[in-house]
Amino acid sequence: MHVTDVLVVGGGPIGLATAIEARMAGLSVTVVEPRGVPIDKACGEGLMPGALAALERLGIDPPGHVIAGISYQAGDRRVDHAFRHRLGRGVRRTTLHRVLAERAEAVGVELVRGTVDALQQDDDSASARLTDGTTRRAHWLVGADGLHSTVRTEAGLALPVRGTRRFGLRRHFAAAPWNEFVEVHWTPAAELYVTPVGDGEVGVAVLGPQHTDYDEAVRSVPALADRLRDRAITTSTRGAGPFHQRTTARTAGRVILVGDASGYVDAITGEGIRVGLAQARVAIECIAAGNPARYEREWRRVTRNFRMLTSGLVALGDSPLRSAIVPLARSLPGVYGAVVERLAR
Ligand SMILES: Cc1cc2nc3c(=O)[nH]c(=O)nc-3n(C[C@H](O)[C@H](O)[C@H](O)COP(=O)(O)OP(=O)(O)OC[C@H]3O[C@@H](n4cnc5c(N)ncnc54)[C@H](O)[C@@H]3O)c2cc1C
Repeated sequence: MHVTDVLVVGGGPIGLATAIEARMAGLSVTVVEPRGVPIDKACGEGLMPGALAALERLGIDPPGHVIAGISYQAGDRRVDHAFRHRLGRGVRRTTLHRVLAERAEAVGVELVRGTVDALQQDDDSASARLTDGTTRRAHWLVGADGLHSTVRTEAGLALPVRGTRRFGLRRHFAAAPWNEFVEVHWTPAAELYVTPVGDGEVGVAVLGPQHTDYDEAVRSVPALADRLRDRAITTSTRGAGPFHQRTTARTAGRVILVGDASGYVDAITGEGIRVGLAQARVAIECIAAGNPARYEREWRRVTRNFRMLTSGLVALGDSPLRSAIVPLARSLPGVYGAVVERLAR
């Protein structure tokens, strides 16, 4: 059986980025993904400045709408912080996926349509069984199959999660963006993210507990509901979650996890893509160096800020201090600015 250097399970943004990284390192790579290009997904679609820089390294500059910073709002209170060093960008998921898939093809990534349902590995290789009965084999297998990763479970790396389960929903509206900042509206029950993604389109993502009602959440922010009234809805509602996914470790023999599959905290800081791209880069660096054990350390390093900030903010949002988050950020603009700059890196 043909053995490739790297087999990537999951052709979402982080799987494709991992595959491009592998080709840039001179490795042969196959990506197994059940869905065709372009894949849509529930996402806030805000690419932080650091995510754009990481994509640029891969030869990708996706079109979208400028994001100048982050604006936290609650009722008539708000606090804005403009990114200091570089702008971010609101990019439709379908656009991001299309440009990544085009780049992957251009650099020689083999794309296979299929779903992986079982793994096996020995000292020299790992193989994935697809639901059509075929098998793919590689020296290294990278699980990039998202929040509900089969690879994570099959490799014995999944850990049960306790506590509040949070979910996300998104929809797009035909509306000219009225703000170059991502607006984050904090309501008592949910957070609403308004991201400009084009000259005539905004995305609105709602994060909250299970069974959060999208329309009710929008109605709970009257200024936003007014702006969206009578605007055509351009995409159907999509959901994702629960967000929180834990792992015992990020590697098991020749299997390595990246992206949401490697463990995820929450979408509250809008950093999934930036952090996933950083994981993709270090995963391939460790594979190319033949030192997967180093990935564990590198994964912790590149996800540390995300894990700390996101867990902290989710805990605060779940506490009696929730209603104080925006007033506090307003009264401490230096601290709020420092947090946003950290996300921007
Ligand atoms: C509501 C919401 C808002 C968000 N907002 C932002 C934001 O503003 N900015 C940001 O950077 N991030 C945001 N995120 C996070 C971001 O969407 C994720 O971190 C990102 O999609 C992770 O990419 P991934 O490639 O790891 O996983 P995914 O995008 O989930 O891709 C996984 C892929 O694996 C495939 N797959 C699954 N199972 C198998 C299998 N068995 N075999 C083969 N393939 C399989 C799937 O079809 C899928 O294409 C948000 C997330 C949500 C839910």
